[in-house]
Amino acid sequence: MTQDLLVPMPASVADVLTVTAPRAPLIPLVLDSPHSGTVLPAEFQPAVDPAMVRISADTHVDDIFAAAPDHGAPLLAALFPRSFLDTNRSLSDMDRLMVAGPWPHLTRDSNTARRGMGLIWRKAWGETPMYDAPLSVAEAEARIRRYWLPYHDALRQLLDGAFAQYRRVWHINCHSMTDAGHAMSSDGLGTTRADICIGDMLGTSAGAEFTGLLREILMEEGFSVAMNKPFKGAELTEAYANPAIGRHSVQFEINRRLYMDEATRERSGDYPAFKAAMTRLVARVADYVKAEVA
Ligand SMILES: [Zn+2]
Repeated sequence: MTQDLLVPMPASVADVLTVTAPRAPLIPLVLDSPHSGTVLPAEFQPAVDPAMVRISADTHVDDIFAAAPDHGAPLLAALFPRSFLDTNRSLSDMDRLMVAGPWPHLTRDSNTARRGMGLIWRKAWGETPMYDAPLSVAEAEARIRRYWLPYHDALRQLLDGAFAQYRRVWHINCHSMTDAGHAMSSDGLGTTRADICIGDMLGTSAGAEFTGLLREILMEEGFSVAMNKPFKGAELTEAYANPAIGRHSVQFEINRRLYMDEATRERSGDYPAFKAAMTRLVARVADYVKAEVA
């Protein structure tokens, strides 16, 4: 049952995103899972097998945090694959090689676009191209309007709504990462990774007390934790954060070896215990948030 909320929840959008409203009184804690979508939209016509498209998905991450609304935190999740349209990229990360003809909007010199994983991914995985031919400008613009903008609108509405009520807000941007570095990643093929990587844009997107709490909980749960390595966070961590006024965002990257078989994409035998650990983490963070605003 959904509680009566002072703050309106954004609506779910068919085929684009789901918003799960709190099932307890709203607290200023927001979780989002931008990359767990695995359903290919009808307008997505990759030149590769859908299985290859799904390699980059943060499969199961939305489910891992499914209990967040029980603690008063809304949960937003995207339903489409990140390589179709990556909400964790700025619109200025548009890869100009992705469109036929000139792109009529400003772009920046984008490290992710250069690697083929910009706003619209040029590569499916490794060096394999995603498409046979570039998209039309109109197609790319429609994709941004239909998927990127509603996702950002929903996240902003959740964060701003909680902030309006409490003057503080904490945001966990939830992801997963491959066991080790791979051909497309910035840390290079085979680089070993911690169990969990917390990204706070090198200390600029969240206060040290919040990141310290997350580290402490994770270490008590027996996980190894890295800060900002290999991922410091990206658009969704950066865009709406401002710790100086009480808006904290972190990117939370879970090593997939902890809960799934990366070859089959299926949940491993460790999945239930891992999900239970993340549920305990959310409960403890919720207690912290409630104490902070009490
Ligand atoms: Zn991700």
